[in-house]
This record gives sequence, structure tokens and C-alpha cells, in this order.
Amino acid sequence: MPGIEAFAERLDRYLEPDQVNLVRRAYFYAEQAHDGQTRRSGEPYVTHPLAVANILADMHMDHQSLMAAMLHDVIEDTGIPKDALVTQFGDTVAELVDGVSKLTQMTFETKAEAQAENFQKMALAMARDIRVILVKLADRLHNMRTLGALAPEKRRRIAKETLEIYAPIANRLGMHSLSTEFEDLGFKAMHPMRSNMIDRAVRSARGNRKELLNKILESLQSCLEREGMPGKVMGREKHLYGIYQKMRGKRKAFTEIMDVYAFRIIVDKPDTCYRVLGAVHSLYKPFPGRFKDYIAIPKANGYQSLHTTLFGLHGVPIEIQIRTEEMEDMANNGIAAHWVYKSKDDVINGHHARTRQWLKGVMELQQNAGNSLEFIENVKIDLFPDEVYIFTPKGRIMELPKGSTPVDFAYAVHTDVGNSCIACRVNRRLAPLSEPLQSGQTVEVITAPGARPNPAWLSFVITGKARSNIRHFLKHQRHSESIALGERLLDKVLASFDTSLADVPAENIQQVLKDCSMELMEDLLADIGLGNRMAYVVARRLLASSNVVESDAETTSVNTPSDTDIRELPLAIRGTEGLVVSFARCCNPIPGDPIVGYLSSGKGMVIHQENCIKLADNRHSNEKTLHLTWDKNVSGEFTVELQVELENERGIIAQLAAGITMADASIDKISVDERDGRISVVQLVVRVRDRLHLSQLIKRIRALKGVMRITRLKN
Ligand code: MN
Repeated sequence: MPGIEAFAERLDRYLEPDQVNLVRRAYFYAEQAHDGQTRRSGEPYVTHPLAVANILADMHMDHQSLMAAMLHDVIEDTGIPKDALVTQFGDTVAELVDGVSKLTQMTFETKAEAQAENFQKMALAMARDIRVILVKLADRLHNMRTLGALAPEKRRRIAKETLEIYAPIANRLGMHSLSTEFEDLGFKAMHPMRSNMIDRAVRSARGNRKELLNKILESLQSCLEREGMPGKVMGREKHLYGIYQKMRGKRKAFTEIMDVYAFRIIVDKPDTCYRVLGAVHSLYKPFPGRFKDYIAIPKANGYQSLHTTLFGLHGVPIEIQIRTEEMEDMANNGIAAHWVYKSKDDVINGHHARTRQWLKGVMELQQNAGNSLEFIENVKIDLFPDEVYIFTPKGRIMELPKGSTPVDFAYAVHTDVGNSCIACRVNRRLAPLSEPLQSGQTVEVITAPGARPNPAWLSFVITGKARSNIRHFLKHQRHSESIALGERLLDKVLASFDTSLADVPAENIQQVLKDCSMELMEDLLADIGLGNRMAYVVARRLLASSNVVESDAETTSVNTPSDTDIRELPLAIRGTEGLVVSFARCCNPIPGDPIVGYLSSGKGMVIHQENCIKLADNRHSNEKTLHLTWDKNVSGEFTVELQVELENERGIIAQLAAGITMADASIDKISVDERDGRISVVQLVVRVRDRLHLSQLIKRIRALKGVMRITRLKN
């Protein structure tokens, strides 16, 4: 294995001296960082990054890619932070190394083969700079070449991943040599017997065919000479995995596949390609319908060449590819070849621009060609990533728009999952439902029966599906809850008139609905529940349009209650009213507290403590305030705010938190303020069932050593 100096000499041929020095520096940095580590083969670890850099130098990659290659395992394997690399080698190289490390951390575990494509997309989406992918591919290639040193189990896993992920990525980027080598090495590791068998068969077939092969080769060569056209003719071998796939996929016999004689003719310029085509077509008869002009209409990944099939001697099929040197290089190295052709006239740092240019070129060609846009679309997504790729706990991959949150994910899985989600785990850790997701994360949604969407979600979800489902649910929910509350409010008033909704004649209801320009009683009730209409006023009108009740009301005062009478029949709050009944944040009422309800137009009812300062101003003047009681069967947890003054002592906050948990209350928020060195003031937001529960909690906290004072905060 040649060392760094021999490598630097190679680089001298196409890089500037100061660039070569930077690569050398990166090597020595890596050598030191990996000091003491060895590869499975026993060699010093640094031989691996050097080999990776060699592979990239074969493709004439730029100095930053080579530096990243030297450093690619430093973050992952030596614990040196990314920041240190920024200081040493600048942002770009550090970003490249970081990108490669992230790809390395991603392991392909899913069994579903259909997921492989998404995984490829995910890998590409995670790499903002295409060079990250190229370094990663070179890394994988060296690991595949040295696979033999690993345990069989690991060997198979890596080989499988290579076949399913890395070979297709290389192919997608037009890097044919690389994808072919990946396939053959992967095939050998996955199926050593089959690979061996095909290899032996190919060798013996080659021997049998040698004579005929040479004859065709010579006739092609002399044909070019006769016509005075410069060109190189060579025989083409099919690679083992390609043969294997053809045998399996197309169910062809080995001899059928091998019975094709394949040649490639490399010429100087595109024009010559067509002239050579004409020449070989007059030499042997072409197979009808087999000619393909990929020069005028390149393949989706930029591949250009002429393809034709001829009837050779004794009718054997001869496949011929005709292309220029540059097309040949593009076919072998794809996106990487681009660096070679453009690096001279471009400024450093223009790689992104160049990559885009390359893609743009391919895209234009593609548009003219009108072929499948699949590759282009993929690459466009991948290089300008608008998407994130997320694993479900079972390893399925979901594609979501960038910025999606766990709630978006939940709705993407299923509407019911979204509607009943209460929490989530991201990479097995509990995480906020609002946190934007990153490609490669595994997200598990925790649901609870009876849970419902929270209106606050609308402020952070970004997918249309989540948004419309939440809106729909809330609207529906709110409507039915408004109806229920409206009905209770109206019933309460009607009861004070000694009647009920059921007793009101249908024509009275129709009249009132007509007056309100409404069609359904439900809509009128919802309007009452939302605080848009006063139950008292509606009740009067319902009764007023009834002649019987109206005459009664005029003659007897018994059935004409005053406001005070109505307030003697308070509405009972159960705590399960839902969206149209909320508890005021200013005074945090809990069951047991004297309460009043304030009907706020369009929002429903807000419940305050009776003595809440915020209500003091409009309590008596405003008829929108209702007297309320707590239902005997009130349920749920209610928020209270407490302030605890305590002496600073080691572990006192932990004791406080433990005390609260022991009292069966839950903590929503805790904040500590140090008043002076000795005393701390703790603000707590806790949830309790009622006043009794609160007093038990306070008693328990007060009993803690160090607690001096505890107060419930209002306003
Ligand atoms: Mn590596």
C-alpha cells in the first residue's frame, strides 16, 4: 500500500501545490486522530481513509473531497467534534465530514425491499452537497473491497445494503464503473457459490468463443481502417451480477446470455459515431428495431452512446456501442466525470453551481427527449431537499414535507392516529409534538382512546392533511359541544319559567327560528352555547310567541322570573363540557371554589372564581355573567398555581417534586428563583382534582423540612 507521499505525487498531476498540501495536512490529522486504532485486517486505521482518498483521486475529485475522505471517520470513530474540524480545515470540509458521518450512522434495517428506493432518496436528501455522497460511495467501495476480514454475518449485512442502496445510488448518478463493482462485490459476498459458478462458466465460455470473438474484432477494426475513421474497438464483458440478474429476472439460460458478442467502439467526436454506425451497418446486417440513438436523446442519467445489434457470421448477434472518449468517461464515472471536464475553467467553490449546471443540462436534454422524468425529479428533490424521510417503528419509511412535526406524521400514518395522539417518541425519546422532524429519525406516536386534537396544533402543523383534519374535527366537536351547552343554558332559564324545551309548542320554535333566520333548532342552541345569544332572551321569545304562556305571564307574576330568580338556579359544571367551556388562566378555578361563568361572544363560556379581580369590573353590570356550581360528579384535573418559599438545601427541589407526586398531583411547570443565598422562591403549576385534593397537597408540602411558606396564587 503506497503511503501519503506517493499519493501526494499523484495529486500533483491535477491539483495546485497548496491544495495538495491541504490534503496532506488532513492526512496527518487523521493519522494522529486514529492513532492506536487498527482495521480488522491488522493494518493501521489510517490506511482506510487514504485508500478512500485514492479512489476519489481516480475520479479526479477536488481537494476538499479528498480532505473529507481523509477525515471521514474522525468524528464517528475518534470523538473529535465537528467544531475542531471547522477550526482546522474550514466550514466546507467540516460539513462534508459531518454529512458522511450522518450517512454512516444510518443503518438499513428494514426488510421491505420496496423501502430501498425511499432509503436511497433519504440518503441523498440528507446530503446537501453531492460530494458527501461521492465520499460515502468511495468509503463503501473500499470497505467492500476489504470485506473478507469481517465476520460472515456482518459481511452479508453490508453486502445487502450495498446492493440495495449504494449500487442504485451510484447508478442513479451515472457512475457505472462504481455500481458494477458494487454489484459484483456484493453478489460475491451474498452468494459466494452462485458467483463462483457464473465466474467459472464465463471463463470457460470465453475460451470457447475466443476464436469467433477475435474474428469479429478484426473485421470491425479493418472496416474502420478501410473507411479511414479513427477508432478503438474492444470486446465487452458482461459483469457477473448483471448475468445473474438476467438469468433470474428474464429467466434466460446462461448460454443464451453469453451467446451475445458485445463490442464497444470509441471514437474522437460525435460526428464520427454516426459515420462508424453507417460503416458497421454495411459490414453486417442490422437487427431491425434494435438501433438506439442515445446521443441525440441521452438517457435520464446523462448517458450518451449509439447502440445497435448486428447479425454476425453464422447469424450470431453482435451488440455494438459507439461513443466518444468523453461519453465513455461520463458513462463510467457519471456525476464525478463532471469535475474532470469542468474543473479547469471554473472557480473553486463552484461545485454546487457546476452540479446544478450538469443537472440542468441533463434536464434540458430530458425535456427535449420527452422521456420518463423520473430520474430528474428524484435528483431535483434530492439536491434541493424539500422532504424529510421518517421511519415508523416497524421500519416503514414515510415521506413528509420539510418542517413536518410528529402531529403531521401521525396524520400521515392515519387520520385516527392523528386525532387520538397525545405524545410521541423520536428515536425512542419522548419529544414535543411540535418539534420539526429530521430525515432518518424513527418516530413513534402514542395515542390514547378518547383523546382529541388540540386546537394549539394548528399553530405548528404544516401538512394539508393534518390541518384540514384538525379543523374538521374541532369544528365538528365545537359545534356539538356548543349545542349541548346552549341546550343546558336554555333549559335552565326555561326551568325557572316552570317549563321546558319539550313543552314549548313547535310553532313557537318555528317562529323564533324564522325571526333569527335559522333553519334548525340546533343552530340556535349552538349560538347560545357560543355566547352569541342570551339564553334568557331566547327563552322569553319562545314563550312570548306562545299565546297561552304570554297571557299567563301577563296576569301572574309567578312565571315571570326576575334576573335574581334565574341566578338561584345555577348551572352545574361537570368539567367535561369540552371546547366551549374553558377555565380562566387568571384565577384557575378548581372544584370547590365559588365560580361564575362569563359568556364571551363566539368563544363560549369562560369560568372564573367568583372573586376574580379580572371579573370585578363587569360582574354586576354585565348580564353575560352566570352563576355556576360544580356538579357532584365533576371530573378531570384542574390547574392551580402555587408559590413555595423554602430554605436552600441540597436536594430540596427534588424532595418537593417527589412530595407533589406522592400526593398524586402532577406538575406542569416548575421554576425556581433564588431570593438570596438562603431562600428560594419556587413557582409551581400543578394539576389537582379539587379543593380537598389541593389542601392535602399543601399539607404535604408544608410538612417538608425547609419549606417556610406556601400560597395559592390568583391573578
Ligand atoms: Mn470509513
